Amino acid sequence: METNSIYPEGKLSAIYGSNVFGDTVMRERLPKAVYKSLKKTIDEGVPLEPNVAETVANAMKDWAISKGATHFTHWFQPMTGVTAEKHDSFISPTPEGKVIMEFSGKELLKGESDASSFPSGGLRATFEARGYTAWDCTSPAFVKDDSLYIPTAFCSYTGQALDKKTPLLRSMEALNTQALRILRLFGNTEAKRVSSNMGPEQEYFLVDKDTYSKRKDLIFTGRTLFGASAPKGQELDDHYYGNIKERVSNYMKELDTELWKLGISAKTKHNEVAPGQHELAPVFNSSNIATDHNQLTMEIMKKVALHHNLVCLLHEKPFAGVNGSGKHNNWSLSTDDGQNLLEPGKTPAENMQFLLFLSAVIQAVDEYGDLLLLSIASNSNDHRLGGDEAPPAIVSMYLGEQLTDILEEMVTGVEKHNQLGGKMKFGVSTLPVLKKDTTDRNRTSPFAFTANKFEFRMVGSLDSIACPNYMINTIVAESLRQIADELEQAKDFDEAVHETIKTIYQKHKRIVFNGNNYAEEWVEESKKRGLYSMRSTVDILPAFLEEKNLKLFEQHSVISRDEAYARYEVLTENYVKNMHIEAVTMYDMVSRQILPACLHYMKFLSEGIISLRETGLGIESKAEIDLLREITKCTDLLRERNDVLQKAVAEIGQMEDAYEKAKQYREKVYAAMQELREVADKLETLVDQKYWPIPTYSDLLYNV
Ligand code: ADP
Ligand code: MG
Repeated sequence: METNSIYPEGKLSAIYGSNVFGDTVMRERLPKAVYKSLKKTIDEGVPLEPNVAETVANAMKDWAISKGATHFTHWFQPMTGVTAEKHDSFISPTPEGKVIMEFSGKELLKGESDASSFPSGGLRATFEARGYTAWDCTSPAFVKDDSLYIPTAFCSYTGQALDKKTPLLRSMEALNTQALRILRLFGNTEAKRVSSNMGPEQEYFLVDKDTYSKRKDLIFTGRTLFGASAPKGQELDDHYYGNIKERVSNYMKELDTELWKLGISAKTKHNEVAPGQHELAPVFNSSNIATDHNQLTMEIMKKVALHHNLVCLLHEKPFAGVNGSGKHNNWSLSTDDGQNLLEPGKTPAENMQFLLFLSAVIQAVDEYGDLLLLSIASNSNDHRLGGDEAPPAIVSMYLGEQLTDILEEMVTGVEKHNQLGGKMKFGVSTLPVLKKDTTDRNRTSPFAFTANKFEFRMVGSLDSIACPNYMINTIVAESLRQIADELEQAKDFDEAVHETIKTIYQKHKRIVFNGNNYAEEWVEESKKRGLYSMRSTVDILPAFLEEKNLKLFEQHSVISRDEAYARYEVLTENYVKNMHIEAVTMYDMVSRQILPACLHYMKFLSEGIISLRETGLGIESKAEIDLLREITKCTDLLRERNDVLQKAVAEIGQMEDAYEKAKQYREKVYAAMQELREVADKLETLVDQKYWPIPTYSDLLYNV
């Protein structure tokens, strides 16, 4: 049969995962005993047997060479938020002047790198520059750009984590330990492992590369620091799920293909709310693999865009006044025998195990909302939260009517007779009758229960999902620990479970909010309830060092005190550095692009006025004179405000303490930037577009 698809029959399944050293390849290429032993480590978390690595390394090398690889690299995730790699070739020269291809078990297991150029938050003095990477066999190796990539964890010479993966893996262990305790109490003797799962919905913008290249702000900061609104924004709601333009569609096709080759199950793609904005969602996976895959996805999104003369913007708020980009973090818990612990089933009211796990999450989110905020805080996400189509920076959770009613009933003993669920009719005989979900959607909630998982929507589009997920895992592990401690002592288990669910709900019901999180009233109401919120990253940074949080991390061995301090420092320094880059870019653009453009146009206007006078006809253009006056006034103000910004930055340069710097950037510099932008954007609407030196929002949002 003729087909227009680039995937004739069978081709897609043949390319899917073709560059991954996954289960099928391992089964084919490893001796049975080695395969079994490795599988046990991957699936059940038992320590790796010493002889396994040598055999696996050899098989990996042969397979990678068959895929065209010449090099291998340990691939890790330092605290920069992007991934790092250093490539070594497989070659080993022989005395005869030839080479053989070698890759040892030792090379697979351990890499050594000069760690001094990665952020460490003082965990590693420069004279102790050694850092190690260790093979993470739970995330499969893959071939990309002629190299074998080996996912690894990264730590310092003294064994402290210097990356985002290590705490995530530790948090998965903690969660597993505590969740299994609960399952055993319910009589489950089969499950060997509980793991957390993740499906990140990745939002992004595409802009034309030539247009992008003319904007220093996009190049240096990932967002527009200036720009008056385009005449048309997202008010017509005509972009969401809209039909996909050919250029974008070609991009998406190539992107899917590249992701599929790496075993990344890109599933859903659609246009998002803002013009130029799109989304890609994969099928969920274990948190660890999902995190690795998301890092790869972001990298490949950017690379593939260039093939189409596009640039992919992952910043949370590239454009003021239109929707920002997030990364909805769909989180759930499942057992190795395939049970989703957050599945309510047909009769959630009778599903005590489900209600208990649900309660654990309710308690965790209420008690550690500060850590959830911390996990998603960044300069870039600050611009998005509370803005168009983004949840506010107030922690609450949505359970939906049915579950809320069930919990209320348990507390009050009064039945609510919830009518949700059931069937839905369109009233047209040819259309099918549909089964309704038990919960409606609430798009505005930052932490929403959606059918059988939680969707944490505050996560920014640019960030690694490692941190939000190790935070969620850890706080839920702590809830489960408390619950298990109690239930293990209970005389009447069923009775005790019932009581626990009731007590938790009574104590923490303030965190449940099923209403509109975008409403003004919610801000007031949430304050009354005493919920965690933040105005900016600076507010929440100190939460890292709070005793209750340090204790939590320590208790579950997710991050040590030293590691927590280090992470706090890295976050604070990043905040300061990013703010600094933005401020400097801004005054550079004003001094060398916007101000000169205004002056040129003023000159043009003045010459016009003079030449009219010189005609001797006694006529003047009031429009020209008024415009010149207004532009002159605004340009003076522009210059003044640019000076204010420069001074504010210079003053902070003299300060020592990083947190104090961050605070000043937020208070003084940020305010100065907003004021500067305001007048520059005004000028954009006054100056002849021929004179305006940078592409406008219309150029950026509407020319792909
Ligand atoms: P939405 O309607 O919220 O936009 P999408 O289909 O775009 O939904 O994305 C939902 C995401 O949630 C997908 O990545 C999907 O794989 C993931 N997901 C579905 N079920 C689970 C689960 N049990 N645990 C974690 N993630 C899940
Ligand atoms: Mg979606």
